[in-house]
Amino acid sequence: MSLKDYHGKRNFDVTPEPKGARPANRAKLSYVIQKHQASRLHYDFRLEWNGVLLSWAVPKGPSLDPSVKRLAMQVEDHPVEYGGFEGVIPEGEYGGGTVMVWDRGTWEPESPDVDAALKKGDLKFTLHGKKLQGSWVLVRTPRGWLLIKHRDRYASTGDVIVTEPKSAVSGKMLTDIARANGGNVEKAAKGDLPPKQ
Ligand code: MN
Repeated sequence: MSLKDYHGKRNFDVTPEPKGARPANRAKLSYVIQKHQASRLHYDFRLEWNGVLLSWAVPKGPSLDPSVKRLAMQVEDHPVEYGGFEGVIPEGEYGGGTVMVWDRGTWEPESPDVDAALKKGDLKFTLHGKKLQGSWVLVRTPRGWLLIKHRDRYASTGDVIVTEPKSAVSGKMLTDIARANGGNVEKAAKGDLPPKQ
């Protein structure tokens, strides 16, 4: 619902009536990718929606190449505050290992109705991150979701996972984060290696 008609009929310099919240599509929605060296390395892709972070685990991480489709397994919603977490989950705990904020920013839906798009399994959106930008899509298939870059000026055949290995917030590698937080440095170091071709 839009407040356009409500606002159009009123002069809020004069009336004491509430102006109301800004339309939902004007609010900035957070986006984060956390590089996570758990039992296996993966990239947790998260989009804020309805007060939570919708979350997908992307084993190979995102690709800027529109011809590359990256498997993204949907996992449980996370609190919005989780997007700021960089550190070590103790071994033996769920997801034990080192977590890096690999990219962070905001996102905008391109699909007009996000809930309907999620239900349908075809969500189009724009990312405004430090590393990832432009238009993307998440498509649900019988095997899981696929994360795909759309063809635009941010598309590239370069491997952003290799060229941009450091934290978007601290500039640290996984090894540095593990060392600073009492984590398993040797295990974290595996995640700092370039992926096998
Ligand atoms: Mn994870």
